[in-house]
Amino acid sequence: MAELTALYSLESLLALDGIDELERMKAEVNPFWNRPRFDIAWSLPVMSGLTEERKISVQQMREASRDELLLFHDPSYIETLELFGNTGSAFSSRFGLDTPECPVFQDVHKYASLPVGGVIDATIGVAEGKFKSAISFAGGFHHAMESQAAGFCYLNDTVIAIKKYKQLNPGKKVLYLDTDVHHGDGTQAAFYGNPDVLTISLHEFSMGFFPRTGGVEEIGNGEGKGYSVNLPLPPLTDDVEYWRVFEDVVIPIWQAYKPDLVFWDVGADAHIGDPLADLMLTYDTYHRLSMTVRQLVHLGRRQLVVVGGGGYEPVTAAKIWTIVLADLADVALPPALPIEWVQLVQKYGCTMRRSGWTDRPRRMEDEHYPKISRAVDDAIKKVKELIFPTFGLE
Ligand SMILES: [Zn+2]
Repeated sequence: MAELTALYSLESLLALDGIDELERMKAEVNPFWNRPRFDIAWSLPVMSGLTEERKISVQQMREASRDELLLFHDPSYIETLELFGNTGSAFSSRFGLDTPECPVFQDVHKYASLPVGGVIDATIGVAEGKFKSAISFAGGFHHAMESQAAGFCYLNDTVIAIKKYKQLNPGKKVLYLDTDVHHGDGTQAAFYGNPDVLTISLHEFSMGFFPRTGGVEEIGNGEGKGYSVNLPLPPLTDDVEYWRVFEDVVIPIWQAYKPDLVFWDVGADAHIGDPLADLMLTYDTYHRLSMTVRQLVHLGRRQLVVVGGGGYEPVTAAKIWTIVLADLADVALPPALPIEWVQLVQKYGCTMRRSGWTDRPRRMEDEHYPKISRAVDDAIKKVKELIFPTFGLE
């Protein structure tokens, strides 16, 4: 039993039709909340045969209860979100709702609360030993604040699931690792003063880049000082520079902290092909990340929950999440992408640059190297100064 990896199905999201209404209502397609994105993402593991693997247990998401949402969110925010979902009419923008990124549409509350229920169940399942690991492609809504929607995020599934885990397992330590290209601001804020939840976020950091937070000096406060770690990276950071950060900083802190439960927000948007960001990661780095995360979890308490996070090039996001799923469950991917999936992608009018699971190695241009390498060195040095003493590291 404990060898199972739980995979949370996107079928319940695909069964709703609110995002089809949204597409009819708006002139531009929402980069996150659109049907092709969900369909392409879910169809890849299915058509690759992964959902038939005996090491993978497909689970259905459920709507989180109001009591669960209230573990983090403000009651009036929840009421407003429910009301919007029922009426479709906006009467207040004070919660960050009805914006281009967080639009209001039919059943928005269901779309938002299904992943929360799924991620809570994933976390409890892992904590109780029912699954050795769990992954939900829909999850990692790290920009959602206590009473504010932002950056495609309405409800912070991760914060709620960690709070629920902490309720059931007082005194246990959680590591939240966020490799989404955007700073995990909402999740960091929720645990900023709490040493029992260590947050580490690697993200692009440049002038005006959303959400504009995540500087290296944000290290937590009070008892939580030293337990918020930020690794701001310049645009064009490539695989080699990224991995240097992971090895020099993330692995030592992780090993010194010795977490009980590990949460990983993958985020497919740090890939070179993502239209909303400027890092240069390839599939190889995601594969290396998932193998390393798996290894570190295996050396520790063996409790891992993975959430998909962002990723706005649907083909890339689907491939990354499926690669991570295969790594977690230790199952083989088919050598080529399934033909029926390629046809589905074409049906939606999406482009496919390569037919396999890898892409060409890419390094930044030589002319950019000195500047980027210096910025990466600087981030590593500052984190070592500010954070390493908390963990007895040098
Ligand atoms: Zn993101």
